[in-house]
Amino acid sequence: MSELSKLTIAAARDALKKGDVTSVELTEACLAEIDAADALGAFVHKTPEVALEQARSADARKDGGDLNGIPLGIKDLFCTKGVASQAASRILDGFKPEYESTVTTQLFDQGAVMLGKLNMDEFAMGSSNETSVYGNAVNPWKAGDAALTPGGSSGGSASAVAADLCLGATGTDTGGSIRQPAAFTGITGIKPTYGRVSRWGIVAFASSLDQAGPMTKDVRDAAIMLRAMCGHDPKDSTSADLAVPDFEAALTGDIRGKTIGIPKEYRMEGMPAEIEKLWEDGTAMLRDAGAKIVDITLPHTKYALPAYYVIAPAEASSNLARYDGVRFGHRAGLAAGDGITEMYEKTRAEGFGSEVQRRVMIGTYVLSAGFYDAYYNRARKVRTLIKQDFEAVFADGVDAILTPATPSAAFALGQKFDDPVQMYLNDVFTVTVNLAGLPGIAVPAGVDAAGLPLGLQLIGRPWEEGDLLNTAYALEQAAGFVAKPARWW
Ligand code: GLN
Repeated sequence: MSELSKLTIAAARDALKKGDVTSVELTEACLAEIDAADALGAFVHKTPEVALEQARSADARKDGGDLNGIPLGIKDLFCTKGVASQAASRILDGFKPEYESTVTTQLFDQGAVMLGKLNMDEFAMGSSNETSVYGNAVNPWKAGDAALTPGGSSGGSASAVAADLCLGATGTDTGGSIRQPAAFTGITGIKPTYGRVSRWGIVAFASSLDQAGPMTKDVRDAAIMLRAMCGHDPKDSTSADLAVPDFEAALTGDIRGKTIGIPKEYRMEGMPAEIEKLWEDGTAMLRDAGAKIVDITLPHTKYALPAYYVIAPAEASSNLARYDGVRFGHRAGLAAGDGITEMYEKTRAEGFGSEVQRRVMIGTYVLSAGFYDAYYNRARKVRTLIKQDFEAVFADGVDAILTPATPSAAFALGQKFDDPVQMYLNDVFTVTVNLAGLPGIAVPAGVDAAGLPLGLQLIGRPWEEGDLLNTAYALEQAAGFVAKPARWW
């Protein structure tokens, strides 16, 4: 096996600059790993021709930046020009966008190489990558014989980075879809502040919650890749017109004098002792690094999941109304006498999987005239209260909040698939961050008794990703997580 695909982005960047390696060599190494890893189900559309062409032009470029020549995987819901972009749904079967998303445009302008598109839950709805039309992705980590989920919805991205099929990957996070799969696979994932990264050209799930971010092998790589993804975009009305700092320059590892909050509401009943211990260990690490630890309260936390599972489906039901079989993707075969109504109905019944249909039905129900106030408006009020909880804590001088990233380690494929409530409970520590629009990062911090990775989450102040990344960097240094999955694929 080639060692090149195992490099971090930072190490590959330095080797490329010195001339020790070429982008074509890096890209070929990754493509070989991808071809040998079909059992992981991570890459669902491979683009070796695009990759090698981009690699050759990166090698020819003299003024390359940090990402010049770096091979990446792209989640399937980023529109990539002329390349299948299906959001893992049958309804977008055959769809090849005429345009490039802002995020991928920025990455490619900076010389990044696209190896292919990555598996995910259909329309990013899920926590296990099992709702994908391509079939599930598999976690490269194993405990015993059972195949484990890499988490979701960015399960393909997580699996690909953890298995060293690429140097980094894009993800998106509406309620935890970057942070939960990162935690399940022992990698780093950051969801930036809402508005930091343009949503233009990203297939929408819940527009007031969706944000894209990087999934990488370590915190430094997250800083490098995030900088390349951020920036103001007039094509996204919610994109913030703010300067993008050099996040990597913020990584001093010095967190002396910082105040870290520990929210008591995140101490959930029935939480495994190992998660509790990880959280305590992480707290001690930050204290030892010179941070001040304070107990805080976020009193509306318990309403976050119900509010999320009203707001996200409501927005999804509206966003997904555009898939009607008329303009793009799948159209159902029609019988004699069928009209436009039958075309919509049959197309949507065939094109959407059952989880997506469930969300569309919940969403239209909570938005219906009779229930709008009882559900949707109430959830919006709860959302404001959750946001105010965080604002109060930050106003008291807290710089970042430490919590577990997930309530468990990776679970077996199939284990929760038929139980949506159990599946939704996976997001208990992550959805608050999306509801409040804050930046959040998952960092691998330990392993459980079975040797599976466990992650901690740090939540930061809005627009202060640099500071958040630096705290995550200090935690990463102290935790010293170096375990890798044993290769079985
Ligand atoms: N698991 C959550 C859901 O199913 C979050 C998904 C996401 O962040 N895209 O909605």
